[in-house]
Amino acid sequence: MDTDSGDHLRTEVVLGNDFASLVQLRMDVQTAMNEERPLYRCAICMVPVYICRNMTQTRFFFRHRGEDGNCPAITRGELPQDEIDARRYNGAKESRQHLQMKAWVAECLAADGRFSDIQTEKRWNGAFTGEWRKPDVRATFNGIHVAFEIQLSTTFLNVIVGRRQFYLKEGGLLFWIFASFDNEHRRMTDEDVYYNNNQNAFIVNASTVKTSLEQERFFLDCAWSVPTVDGSNSALHRKVVAFDELTLDPATQRAFYFDYDGHRDGLRSAKVSEAAVLRDEVEAWWDVRYETDSQHSAWLSFAARLRKLGLEVPYGYNEIDAFGISALYSAKHNRPYGQGKKRLVEVAHSVATGSKGHLIWFMHAVRYYDREASMAAEGTPGAWAKKYKQCRQEYLNDMEPFTPIRKSQALIEFLFPELSPLP
Ligand SMILES: [Zn+2]
Repeated sequence: MDTDSGDHLRTEVVLGNDFASLVQLRMDVQTAMNEERPLYRCAICMVPVYICRNMTQTRFFFRHRGEDGNCPAITRGELPQDEIDARRYNGAKESRQHLQMKAWVAECLAADGRFSDIQTEKRWNGAFTGEWRKPDVRATFNGIHVAFEIQLSTTFLNVIVGRRQFYLKEGGLLFWIFASFDNEHRRMTDEDVYYNNNQNAFIVNASTVKTSLEQERFFLDCAWSVPTVDGSNSALHRKVVAFDELTLDPATQRAFYFDYDGHRDGLRSAKVSEAAVLRDEVEAWWDVRYETDSQHSAWLSFAARLRKLGLEVPYGYNEIDAFGISALYSAKHNRPYGQGKKRLVEVAHSVATGSKGHLIWFMHAVRYYDREASMAAEGTPGAWAKKYKQCRQEYLNDMEPFTPIRKSQALIEFLFPELSPLP
């Protein structure tokens, strides 16, 4: 553990691969340890460590200052992993950066007259169980009991989850504070906190402390993402915000400035209604599309809107399966739709004779829209029944020609959601 930052680093990262600087580092580490300000400690037992060199193999490694054999890093297997995690976590809490953060938060809360019962490292006893936690700083704001925890490099997921459950039961609010938060240096544990807090992260640093003390109001730097129309996230937005501007929600253990989930839901429902409008417009246009001059330009504008909704459709009208779509609309409307025939059964015959690859989906639609009986009664009596029987026989002999033509499947699924799943 880096004593200054509290970060847990891999040995090879600290040692590097430059021999000269490693020899110098070794001297610095030893000197600092002798002066009782060790640069590195064992992450588990917190005993200062120094760099050893294996003379024969020129290998470098860390060793405890006092090697009494008590450290679980040496006596492997005697401590369960969660106990090792807890020790590493508690050790990191004594890092210089963490002590600084705690002091800053307490100072800011005290400067803002609206917080009461401000306490540092005070036990929070569970009301109903023997459980307790010791939040870094606790305070009451507007009747809500808030536990402020500094997010450390080593806050393990089971620590995060355990605390969240505890404060939820207590009716309190767990509020995580970061020393820094950005896109490049985000750690897995930071994400655990961030994504479970409506994608808002709060940072306290020297600059926010200065503002808080000057204005006697608790300010934090907030980083958040905005959901985008295509379903992904924006880059981080940032703003210095006051604690009293935040939405505090103990029921979901969230505190946020920008309501990411709310905006995402709004986008989704806007998308759903835009989809419904577009579906109706395409359907209306399909019936009359040959009465206008250019199907191509009309389709081009539909395609642009469909693609905006995330649907992969071609821009070229000639590339869509117009025959198949016409057949399905015809089944839906119980008449030839957007094509020059008189009765639905004529559509059925043209599919069965000229385009067997459309028959399975067409008949699926005929059954779904309940057109089987009325369609069979159209035209020459018995003709369709005979034709269909013949198709079934052909299908039994060779299924290949009946394999559904899927080139516009995504578009068809969008235009006819009721027919899903297509056979
Ligand atoms: Zn140790």
